[in-house]
Amino acid sequence: MFWRPQTVAASYSGSGVGTVSERLRVNPIACTAHGMCAELLPEFIALDPWGYPIVPDEPVPDDLRGLAARAVAVCPALALMITKGTAEGR
Ligand code: SF4
Repeated sequence: MFWRPQTVAASYSGSGVGTVSERLRVNPIACTAHGMCAELLPEFIALDPWGYPIVPDEPVPDDLRGLAARAVAVCPALALMITKGTAEGR
């Protein structure tokens, strides 16, 4: 991994606004297709024909962060997680 000073400076610019994003990730090995995450967050999570979640590879919108955290908390298989990163580092 390369250290990019402009990325670090942008990420910790003082206000902390705008550069850190949260993404939902699914551990496909642990997921048992309960579908509770999609029930809680249908605006962001879809299910495939077998009941496994399809999570977009994009930041969780600000207005859905609370529901995303709740979906992580209720996942019975502990297969859903939130990762934080910068737009550059993802
Ligand atoms: S709630 Fe957890 S186990 Fe169920 S589909 Fe979602 S990620 Fe998979």
